[in-house]
Order: sequence, then C-alpha cells, then structure tokens
Amino acid sequence: MSEKADYGVVIVGAGQGGATAAIQLRQLGYEGSIVLVGKEAEPPYERPPLSKDYLLGEKTFERILLRPEAFWADKAVELMLGAEAVSVDPKAHEVRLQDGRVLGYEHLVWATGGSPRRLDCPGAELAGVHAVRDRADVDRILAELPEVERVAVVGGGYIGLEAAAALTKLGKQVALFEVLPRVLARVAGEEISDFYAAEHKAHGVDLRCGVGVTAIEGEGRVAGVRLTDESSLACQMVIVGIGIVPAVGPLLAAGAAGGNGVDVDPQCRTSLPDVFAIGDCAAHANRFAGGQVMRVESVQNASDQAAVAARTICGIAADYEATPWFWSNQYDLKLQTVGIGAGHDATVLRGDPAGRAFSVIYLRGGKVIALDCVNMVKDYVQGRKLVEAGVSVSAEDLADTGRPLKEWL
Ligand code: FAD
Repeated sequence: MSEKADYGVVIVGAGQGGATAAIQLRQLGYEGSIVLVGKEAEPPYERPPLSKDYLLGEKTFERILLRPEAFWADKAVELMLGAEAVSVDPKAHEVRLQDGRVLGYEHLVWATGGSPRRLDCPGAELAGVHAVRDRADVDRILAELPEVERVAVVGGGYIGLEAAAALTKLGKQVALFEVLPRVLARVAGEEISDFYAAEHKAHGVDLRCGVGVTAIEGEGRVAGVRLTDESSLACQMVIVGIGIVPAVGPLLAAGAAGGNGVDVDPQCRTSLPDVFAIGDCAAHANRFAGGQVMRVESVQNASDQAAVAARTICGIAADYEATPWFWSNQYDLKLQTVGIGAGHDATVLRGDPAGRAFSVIYLRGGKVIALDCVNMVKDYVQGRKLVEAGVSVSAEDLADTGRPLKEWL
C-alpha cells in the first residue's frame, strides 16, 4: 500500500502562483495544514529575472527567491520539493506523486504553469538547444556560454527578445528568428513591434521576421540552424522561446473541463469539487478582454488569482477582476503594459519613439483598453486608471504629451 498523508490544502506547483496562495492563506489566518508540492529542486523563486538580471549575472539565485528559505517553516508551510504530481482522484480527494506517495486534500490548488513548447524540427534535441523557463535551463546556458560565440534565438516574444538583449550585453553575436511578420505580434501593436525590432538591430542583433527554423544542424551538439528561406547560419547555441504548453494533463485526465489550460470560474474553481487552478495554467473569462476566455502568463495574474483562491478557501467572497499588468526589460528600456490590447480597433501614439520614451494607447469602440509604455512610468500609472475606468477620450487628447493622462479621468 502507498504511503498517504492528509492536508487541509495541497498546492501543486511551487512557483509564483502556488507560493502566493500559501502566503495568502496564512495571511488570512488559515490554520489547516498546507503542503507546497514542487517538481523543481528549489524553493519558490521569481521567474522574470531568468531572462534578465539572473541571465546577466547581475542577481544571484538567493536574490530571486520569493521568500528566504526559513520563511516556509516559520509559516508552517511544508515544502515538498523535487516531487511531481502525476494524477488526481477527485472523488477520494487525493493527489498521487510520481514516487507513489499519496496526498489527501480538503482543497487542492493547481498552480503548475506550463512546459516550454519545443521545436519539432530535426535536431531539436541536440545538446546546446535550450528553453528559458526554469533556473536549471539558465544555469545550463550560463555553463555553456564561455564556449559560445554565436547564438540563434527562435521566437520574437518577450522571452526571446529579453534573452537576445541579455546575450548581446554579454558580448555574444545574436541572431533572432521570428516566423510571423513582426516581433511581439501576439501581444503588442505594430508601433511597439517596430520600435523593438529597430532597437535590437541597433544593438547588433541579426533580427529576421517571417523566417522560421526548419532544422538544427550538428553532430551531437548544435553547429547551426537551417531556415525557411533555405539559408543557414552557424551557431553554437539555440534558445527557443516559442511559448508554453499548460501543465494540466493530470487535471484533465481526472475530468476537469478545459483544453488550452483548465477552465476556472471567477473564484478560480475548476469543474472538479474543491479543486482550484491559478496562474499560467488557468483559463478564465477576463473582464479586461471583454469576457474572453484566456490564459494570462504574468506575475500579476498568478499572484492575484492565488489571492482569490485563498480567499474562497477561507470562505471570503472574492471575484477575479484584477487589472492586468506586465513588464519587460530590454537594454535600458523598461516596457510597462496595462490592460489587454488584443481586439483593439485603434491605437494612439503618445510621444516620439525616436526619443526612446513614449506610449502606445489601445482603444476599442473609443474606450481606452490598454497601454504599452516605454520608459514612461507616469503614463503607465495614470493610464492604468483610464483602463480601469474604461473611459472614452479622443485620439487627439490622448496624443497630447503636454497634458497628463490623468486629466482625462
Ligand atoms: P510558475 O511560476 O511557472 O510555477 C509553476 C511551478 O509548477 C513550476 O515550478 C513547475 O516546475 C511546477 N510544476 C509543474 N508541473 C508540476 C507537477 N505536476 N507537480 C509538481 N510541480 C509541478 N511575467 C511578468 O509579469 N513579467 C515578466 O517580466 C516576466 N518575465 C518572465 C521571464 C521568463 C524567463 C519566464 C519563464 C516567465 C516570465 N514571466 C513574466 C511570466 C511569469 O513568470 C509567469 O506568468 C508566472 O511565473 C506564472 O506563475 P505560475 O505559478 O502559474 O507558474
């Protein structure tokens, strides 16, 4: 018979969402037992620095821990690390781990994020091909870097672009391939894409849009990439940043509704009794996207959904309605985003990209729905209020940098 331990709350996934759920439960006075089950060996840490300061060597691993290690024992949160949950029995209220252990729960919080999407071309498994998702990925990259002169980055989303910026700063020659016609195509308007493409080129990145990778070449180790335009490029490392696949297999197998992630209601409850899902793996109807069901991959979303799940477990009324925000650091540029721009029907450019401080404001039906602010903290702070209030402002007024955005509230 397998060993079984019973808990008040079992949290699967010791990342941003899982750790925040445990913290919030204790802050709300939850007195039951809590276990945080994590596949990785490390206590919970922040992922954003992995493609920024940690990759650059500007922050040590200790500095990116979400809490000092002693915190978890102080708060009576059991850390079960190096442990992978492989199945859920919703009737018995049990989670089974890969090593056979069984954890009984009153409430289960599923906070597993996702695994990096892999390339499916020949050579994708060669040594020297890396994702940037976990600490272990970045440690492998850092260990190999001294032998590497040229890196090919596949994918022009935030992670690919941030990795390209960091590697360039580390003195590597970087080529970046994005199969779509522009970088950041899924998350930002054309003005932002064009600006970032130009910045990367100015920093020496060989950035090519509309170009994909058809094969990774090499004997045992990466020696180059072959591209959709029939050309090839020699390199000693490939970094793949083409999105994630939500890690919800065990929940879907247990009968939870979902597909691209697991579906949750406004309290972050899945369709299984007493089972919640939060963070990158949770598909929810987002108020800021007109109620569209989506997964949002951000620290804000994971943390705020964790708070909602914790409140619901504690019997406190809560709905997930938090304002979406995000940031990205590349070179000396700080991009801050608020709202969800997808589905916009107009954009307004505020400021001049040539001055490297400007904002792009997204409108739908005349209402402000999102902003991307580059080195423009004031616009971000004030624009957030416009998004939350869903105000209608004319394009001319929004573009007038002589007047602060707060005037239009
Ligand atoms: P995660 O933090 O990914 O945690 C999930 C954890 O669950 C992982 O540790 C995983 O190993 C574990 N796990 C998975 N399956 C199992 C299982 N079966 N059993 C046990 N454990 C399991 N967001 C921003 O807002 N701003 C940024 O600048 C930014 N930069 C980023 C840079 C990088 C390189 C990455 C990878 C992400 C970045 N993000 C950023 C996104 C942000 O980090 C995520 O949205 C956030 O971490 C999601 O939290 P989560 O709890 O859903 O998942």
